[in-house]
Amino acid sequence: MSNLVPTEMKRVALASRPDGRPSTENFRLETVPLRAPQDGEFVVRVIYLSLDPYMRGRMDAAKSYSAPVEIGETMEGGAVGEVIASRNSRFNVGDIVTGMFGWASHAVSDGTMVRKLDPSLAPVSTSVGVLGMPGITAWVGLNVHGKPKAGETLVVGAATGAVGSVVGQLGKIAGLRVIGVAGGAEKCSYAVEELGFDACIDHHADNLKARLAEACPDGVDIYYENVGGATLEAVMPLMNVGGRIPLCGMIAWYDKGGLGAGASEGPNLLPKMWRTILVQRLTVRGFIVTDHYDHFPAFLAEVSGYLRDGRLKYRESFAEGLENAPDAFLSMLQGGNFGKQLVRVSEDPTL
Ligand code: NDP
Repeated sequence: MSNLVPTEMKRVALASRPDGRPSTENFRLETVPLRAPQDGEFVVRVIYLSLDPYMRGRMDAAKSYSAPVEIGETMEGGAVGEVIASRNSRFNVGDIVTGMFGWASHAVSDGTMVRKLDPSLAPVSTSVGVLGMPGITAWVGLNVHGKPKAGETLVVGAATGAVGSVVGQLGKIAGLRVIGVAGGAEKCSYAVEELGFDACIDHHADNLKARLAEACPDGVDIYYENVGGATLEAVMPLMNVGGRIPLCGMIAWYDKGGLGAGASEGPNLLPKMWRTILVQRLTVRGFIVTDHYDHFPAFLAEVSGYLRDGRLKYRESFAEGLENAPDAFLSMLQGGNFGKQLVRVSEDPTL
């Protein structure tokens, strides 16, 4: 046991469930005892906490593919950390690891779903971003469910975010015409100039439908769905016969659930969309990445290769300190992040 292990830790707990859009009131920063590891366990000092849109769903009591966070419990989250004490023969003091350590300064783990990282291969923060859960989500959604063929047109929303930026770049590598949709001129010019997309449409500006139609003269073969709302409404009339929609997320609707929020046609949109799916013989495929981790080795080998040879780029936004996690999370849900959103919880010894 190392004598550097504290007896207390900080954590962010879910204080209450949001009614609609969440606020900082729904979170509580607290100091709690850090229990000693038992046989088979180890203690992690968290370095980076990953903030992801799915955490919004965990704040609600509604039935979903995963259980909600209970009130008073630590917010769920993937993180990167350093092992600072160990009674587990597979994990040694000094190992850098990634796992579901939660919104906390420290965690005690038995190693379940924990992966050791090699800091010489890539910055360790990428293990919760481009080389982690968001990256494999992009890879599976596009390759397994999108079934891309060179020359086709792909549209992806939240185009500069953790998932969307990888989807679009993999699309370019696969020979697709790639159109992003993102919030604001700066994100759109980054998508085109840095990430190599063919065009990017700002969903905050007027005439989204007309501008998207103009950017997709041959229609849309794959709509990688991250956002729902007005973007979905603009894409549906452009879908080609036999088009595919990997349904990954619908962040425009996470606060309200209903079809109306964020879509101008409200409830009338549903019959229209249903008809388009029929007439255009579309394949809409909802997927949850945790069902597809058998692809992780293939994904990691391919995408880390693209990173190494510079064919794929990524961008990260850092909030400083665990106490700023709620603000950073709330901001990300509204587009305040530019690239993968992380919280720097403590010093990164690998830098
Ligand atoms: P991002 O890094 O893309 O951050 C979220 C982004 O959503 C914001 O930056 C903002 O980008 C965009 N956004 C927010 N509100 C709206 C809106 N009303 N209309 C359009 N865009 C909006 O997050 P991730 O890459 O981590 O996640 C992207 C999507 O993928 C989410 O829906 C998420 O839930 C989903 N996901 C699903 C998984 C699965 O297993 N199915 C796994 C991982 C993620 P902008 O400023 O450009 O609008």
